[in-house]
Amino acid sequence: MPLSRETALTDLPGVGPARGKKLEKLGLRTLGDVLNHLPQRYEDRRECYALRDAPQDRPCCVCAVVAETPRVSYIRRGLSLVKVKGVDETGTVHITFFNQDYIREAVRRGESYIFFGTVERQGNLFLMTNPVFEREGTARTTGLIMPVYPLTAGISNNLMAGLTRRAADSCLDGLPEILPAGLRREHKLCQTQFARKNIHYPDDYEALAIARRRLVFEELFVLTCGLAQLKDRRAAGAGRVMEGDVEKFAALLPFPPTGAQRRAMEDIAADLRSGRAMNRLVQGDVGSGKTAVAAFGAWAAVKNGAQCALMAPTELLAEQHARTMEALLAPAGVRVALLTGSVKGREKKALLSALAAGETDLVVGTHALFSQGVEYHALGLVIADEQHRFGVAQRGALAEKGGAVPPHILVMSATPIPRTLALIIYGDLDVSVMDELPPGRTPVDTFLVGEDKRARMYGFVRKQVSEGRQVYIVCPAVEENGGWEDGPGMDLKAVTAYAGELRERVFPELRVGFVHGRMKAREKEDVMGAFHRGELDVLVSTTVIEVGVDVPNASLMVIENAERFGLSQLHQLRGRVGRGKHKSYCVLVTASRGETARERLRALCATNDGFQIAEEDLRLRGPGDFFGKRQHGLPQLKVADFAADMELLKEAREAAQALVAADPELKRPAHRLLRKKVRELFQDNAELFN
Ligand code: ADP
Ligand code: MG
Repeated sequence: MPLSRETALTDLPGVGPARGKKLEKLGLRTLGDVLNHLPQRYEDRRECYALRDAPQDRPCCVCAVVAETPRVSYIRRGLSLVKVKGVDETGTVHITFFNQDYIREAVRRGESYIFFGTVERQGNLFLMTNPVFEREGTARTTGLIMPVYPLTAGISNNLMAGLTRRAADSCLDGLPEILPAGLRREHKLCQTQFARKNIHYPDDYEALAIARRRLVFEELFVLTCGLAQLKDRRAAGAGRVMEGDVEKFAALLPFPPTGAQRRAMEDIAADLRSGRAMNRLVQGDVGSGKTAVAAFGAWAAVKNGAQCALMAPTELLAEQHARTMEALLAPAGVRVALLTGSVKGREKKALLSALAAGETDLVVGTHALFSQGVEYHALGLVIADEQHRFGVAQRGALAEKGGAVPPHILVMSATPIPRTLALIIYGDLDVSVMDELPPGRTPVDTFLVGEDKRARMYGFVRKQVSEGRQVYIVCPAVEENGGWEDGPGMDLKAVTAYAGELRERVFPELRVGFVHGRMKAREKEDVMGAFHRGELDVLVSTTVIEVGVDVPNASLMVIENAERFGLSQLHQLRGRVGRGKHKSYCVLVTASRGETARERLRALCATNDGFQIAEEDLRLRGPGDFFGKRQHGLPQLKVADFAADMELLKEAREAAQALVAADPELKRPAHRLLRKKVRELFQDNAELFN
């Protein structure tokens, strides 16, 4: 039977319906799918060592003749051993297989086999445990750089490798080349056939590197082509012309804006008056004063007869923003309303009709702002605060609420995203960076303490309060399912109990409040409001206070179980203090003795630079923390590694931008396949491309 990329795996010998199902779990249906199922690592099984010369510190191949018939012994229920004795010219190796009784039949006395595994040396003896093996001369799983694939139960690596071997042998001819020849030459990229073959079965490590480089480039190139197209289209999109005078607005502020704030506002003013739809990201570390910049946008939109929607990631933050906006903009005649999931019934109905009638100018809320049934009279600007939870797809959905003319979009982010990720998540946005803090801030001093210092830490809390300050104490978040974000630990009861203990036993003389994510919005608001007004000394909370909460009198942030948080998240939390004129502190409490955990936390003590911390976080924990559970709405990458492939990303992105500038719709014949790939990659957000 001639094989092709369309051949169903279940049509291959050795793959029945049962295996077919398991392979489907890995997303593999055809040989073409298998070709795209890439190894996660490789084992160097090329060289065959004499026992005496076998390296001790890594697995390798040895060739030995089996000297005796293998013996099975049953140690206890569920544990059996097969012992195999092998010899070569330099020694004897005793090989033990656990719970693999079939080995007794599979290995014959007097025959030669290649064993791949770690060779241990004990005096004159050599030992191996559970090696991979095959008869000498087979050369299927030894004598090569062996790919190791992501697997699932019931699918062995040998089976998978057998499939990829077939795919590589029979499906590479005529494989279409996505990358135009000129581009390949310019960026020194190998052909697709070479790359596909060598990513599975590399001739050597150099060939592997060449193959990988091409595939990473291709992946990032397709992605950034898509992003460049998005940006291009947005830029071409007509936008409502709005005039906004920064000086006039500044008069409404209780403080003179910083240079960075002024620049960001000027950027926005220029976008608004350009006649094209604004798509701008304002990125600035916690406390850099992004709220005032957002307020400028809202003010300008309303002054020009449009409505503005300001979206926050949590109800708590939405409530706070509503208060701030009301205080700032109501004197200028802006009518502000708050819409969250907990606004219900008659109140909600009234609010919705006011919005639809244009009697509300600025509505602040959570994603409820864009749920069905919410209609705007003249939505002219959408502002999203803390946007790393809010990616390309969501922004696309928002744009639709605007009617014929898409609304301007302004995204605020305090999460210093490593530059690589920023290029991808925000690849379709213009960026204003706020690199300046309001005057009079002193950097937050950060300390790492163990359990032995708990009493002293409590003493420090009392001291801060006695000086008139307020204190946050944060415990790791309670997840929907009741578990911690990363593994088992205390449950909600324990967090509540801890707050109770602080209130009753540790700080009986202080006013202690408590918020967590499962409280009713109303209750949370009451507690937060009380803390804000200075009616509480200590606020115990889960990470619901993570983003944006602003209480300038708070000078101490204590974080319990600090090792459970990502560095960037800790940095965010720390940003809750040091917002006023008081010297501020952050105390990270950990019982962890692990050196890497403590190392990580020390990095936080050493710097207040959010970007540096973000880079470190990316290096240590990968991009998952930044992306959340795919909430960015961007396609999953298969080959590229955000931490390691930054240089290549830049190169691919520049190439993509140049190509899209020359051929915005990818209409040229040479770009036909590329265009198809871009669409495939973005198929989850296909609406963006229509
Ligand atoms: P971000 O959202 O960037 O983390 P905020 O907008 O919440 O920061 O501002 C943090 C604090 O700094 C607030 O209390 C705000 O009133 C104050 N602030 C903002 N801009 C200035 C400024 N130019 N001068 C003085 N204080 C400012
Ligand atoms: Mg903010």
